[in-house]
Amino acid sequence: MIEEHRIGEFTLITLLDGIFLCGTEMIRAAASEEGAELFKSAGLPASGPSPEPINAFALKRNDELWLIDAGCGRELGPRFGKAPEALRAAGYTFDQVQGIILSHLHEDHVGGLINEDGLALYPNATLFLSEEEWAFWTDATSPEQYPRMAEAGLFRLATSVLEAYAGRVTALPANSEVIPGVSLVPLHGHTPGHSGVQIRDADQQVLIWGDVIHSTLLQLRYPDWSIGFDVDPQQAVRTRERLLAQLATEDTLVAGPHVTGIGRIRSCCSGGYRLDLSRYQ
Ligand SMILES: [Zn+2]
Repeated sequence: MIEEHRIGEFTLITLLDGIFLCGTEMIRAAASEEGAELFKSAGLPASGPSPEPINAFALKRNDELWLIDAGCGRELGPRFGKAPEALRAAGYTFDQVQGIILSHLHEDHVGGLINEDGLALYPNATLFLSEEEWAFWTDATSPEQYPRMAEAGLFRLATSVLEAYAGRVTALPANSEVIPGVSLVPLHGHTPGHSGVQIRDADQQVLIWGDVIHSTLLQLRYPDWSIGFDVDPQQAVRTRERLLAQLATEDTLVAGPHVTGIGRIRSCCSGGYRLDLSRYQ
């Protein structure tokens, strides 16, 4: 089934890339009584893990076709990398994609930009990302400063992707409009230039919030629970807390690479939040 949402003249299509298991080795604070309660409330074992999606998105307006993030490709094994198939199943070809907006350059968002030969999968697409994100991944000193990320091959992958799209990479100031109605939103912390993407038309808007949340089950209830992949966990917590508090007062719809469905953020359960899907199904 293809999940589509209309935002004025835009159509947003969720491209499921795979399902990952978010456990207490990723979100350490969930190895606790509070964590056990949440896992059990979802019908899971008390120690987790919680199955969570990896999504990319296609954005269509008239004959324009864009992607927002691109899934894992071959990076995380054969259970992942389904976003390109999902794009084809939705009726599109890779050469129709004219631009790809990247929330950040972790492997589950950019691995799907290249094929097994390291070549660009989307031959006509320009990549768009924030200047801060571009600076972090292209700074020759970053791998020394972040040896764990270097060992995991993340800088190697980011370099391969940027090389495959050489001459077709545009780094923009945070907050920039990419095309009319579609803007980057600075949500730094998970990575130094991590950004959301806001889509606005007429009186409707959707925020694709990147990796502000990796598990709606765990981190909406406890926004101060970080995931091990945050480059700056404290900044990531501040960004999440600020954004959730703001969204709880707004009509903005949210979607995410690690969120199932699209809905509104509402306050709940003394200091936590929930994703209200009810008015948009
Ligand atoms: Zn991610």
